[in-house]
Amino acid sequence: MDSLENILRQYAEFDTFDTFGNNVCRDMVADALTSSTRITYFPALALMDSVVAIEYSFDLKYLGYSGVLNKIFSSPSVSRIKIDDPWPYMVYGVKKILPKLESYQVKDFLLGIADIESLFAYDLSEVIKRIYITTDHIQNAGYNSSDTASVYVHELTLSKIDTVGFLPVDARIVGRHEAIHAIADKLGLNDNELLGQLFWELHSEFRANIMGGSGYFYAQLDEEKFDPDSAIFGGHSFESPKEFLASYLNSVVHENWEEIMAKKSEGFSQTYTHVTQVMRNIFIGRPELKNTAMASLLEVRLVWFKENK
Ligand SMILES: [Zn+2]
Repeated sequence: MDSLENILRQYAEFDTFDTFGNNVCRDMVADALTSSTRITYFPALALMDSVVAIEYSFDLKYLGYSGVLNKIFSSPSVSRIKIDDPWPYMVYGVKKILPKLESYQVKDFLLGIADIESLFAYDLSEVIKRIYITTDHIQNAGYNSSDTASVYVHELTLSKIDTVGFLPVDARIVGRHEAIHAIADKLGLNDNELLGQLFWELHSEFRANIMGGSGYFYAQLDEEKFDPDSAIFGGHSFESPKEFLASYLNSVVHENWEEIMAKKSEGFSQTYTHVTQVMRNIFIGRPELKNTAMASLLEVRLVWFKENK
């Protein structure tokens, strides 16, 4: 059997990249000085100025082991933030935001996540466990598919007070959007064939008729437009099936859905009905989804169209 030293000798001097793109170096100077072997991995991902966790994977063969360390997470030093309610979610942020916490809609954001987990018949925090409040230069909210239990949201997105040029956004709706991403990812819904077909079908109409066709539909579906009275910006349903699904389901669960839909144009309502039929079929086709409250809500929306439009 090869000893570790023998194995390491095969890589006597190396400066190479492993299968994950890490630069793996053997520090010959350190070897000589300490009469031990020192291997350094320089990860491919740059560290971001953010509190978002970063995923690393390493190929261990350079250390004499077969196998990999897969999906190790590291995040810059962030504190767990105590929230009053006994919610199961863990909220993290850098220390400097603590004095400002009162001015953030943290609970509303968590409520949005809880709304969606419940509608998909999950226990609270069964899918999303960690929320990172970011403070870097990008005001956004997001979900990183390499860390399926975390979402992040920028401190300004949570602000209860006006930020430059923007009204405070509805953090509950933002929370819902990110929760839909996480759950759809967990369920493999983003790759659903019917969803893809529907998205591209609308997309080709969008290209053919930007002004009057589905381009209008996508724009009206986005969170910032669906409810003309809401103070929210964002939504990019035309980008990908994944974003389309998030904005669509987010519209379905809107508290004022009926009131909003009653004011929408004939064309929008027709396309929305068609989209809802396809979505209902997607939910019915999945045993773990067909009895969820979300599936029932799709049914309720279809009944409303039958009776009102
Ligand atoms: Zn999104």
